[in-house]
Amino acid sequence: MTSSSPFNRRTLLRGSLAAGAGVALGPVLLSGSAYAYSWSRTLSQGMTGADVTELQIRVAGWPTSSPGHTRVALDGDFGAGTAAAVRLFQSAYGLSSDGVVGPATQAQLNALQQSDGSTSHFNFSEFTDRVSGTFDGGKVSAAAAKENARRAMYKLEALRKKLGNVPITVNSGFRSIAHNADIGGASDSMHLYGTAADLDVPGVANKTVYQKAETCGFSGLETYNTDHQHVDSRADLGRAWWWENGTV
Ligand code: ZN
Repeated sequence: MTSSSPFNRRTLLRGSLAAGAGVALGPVLLSGSAYAYSWSRTLSQGMTGADVTELQIRVAGWPTSSPGHTRVALDGDFGAGTAAAVRLFQSAYGLSSDGVVGPATQAQLNALQQSDGSTSHFNFSEFTDRVSGTFDGGKVSAAAAKENARRAMYKLEALRKKLGNVPITVNSGFRSIAHNADIGGASDSMHLYGTAADLDVPGVANKTVYQKAETCGFSGLETYNTDHQHVDSRADLGRAWWWENGTV
């Protein structure tokens, strides 16, 4: 359980911690009743587990307050990097920034989640392939692509917060291989994995978006000199960091 797959969705399930490891549950469809992650303990530095991985996903947009190739490792191991991210998250949301994830912080983390597992200000429909309306046909399974989109949403929540709670529009998220080829996308585009998003932030310069994104754990940033800002988390997929304009 400590080295769970990057695409493991087990952690999304209520009560998953007691459900046992190694059970392949497949795509998780969360709909209908209200859903919140069932944090079963206060988390602090030194702990390990699937709940730590879920925490890391949710604070991954807060790895650092200054630009740098810094990301929260999604490894289920609550180390110094996770604690630093928790403190920045807590500070941003007016909580005591002690780096310990107790009930108040857990409540704030859950407040950012919608009933289908998406986040407060982003919907899965914004991330699905624009032609098919699904997460099918990419370089990973639909479930994996959807999970990557979910993870992107938490970073985008952080970006939105840092920009002053301004609305962010996702013009393109996941793309199927076929659609990506049709529009001339790169053959190994991060959009094919669901981890990328092309953003439009009305009233905010792309350069400003880029600069804030430098503090949100995004390991892929295309130039801000276009009509949108591309962000992705390629390092989560084992790729090297790539910031096209460097640190600006
Ligand atoms: Zn893009």
